[in-house]
Amino acid sequence: MTDKEAKHFYNSKEWKEKRIDILIRDRNECQDCIVRIRKAIEEGIRLTPEDRKVRRATEVHHIQELKEHPELALVDDNLIGLCHTCHDIRHNRHTLVRRKRKKRLTEERW
Ligand SMILES: [Zn+2]
Ligand SMILES: [Zn+2]
Repeated sequence: MTDKEAKHFYNSKEWKEKRIDILIRDRNECQDCIVRIRKAIEEGIRLTPEDRKVRRATEVHHIQELKEHPELALVDDNLIGLCHTCHDIRHNRHTLVRRKRKKRLTEERW
């Protein structure tokens, strides 16, 4: 699938409806946050208060990438509701701005 086709897909009525279906299925809870918290409990890892809560799922991620697997574009099992932060992690696109800001806060405190 090309960028253009992907863009077209994300604008389609089918996707918009499916996206809402998935967010409802996942009860608007980020599925990666749930896993992170469950793991931490099992392994006895102490989480920061920020990481201890399940964030709201606002985005729907394609587990098998859309461009690689257009045939799975609307398959429920290939879709997962995630919060913005966990979605970025899945795509390895850490928001630099957010990181920088955190760093600066620490620096100022010292
Ligand atoms: Zn999350
Ligand atoms: Zn994604």
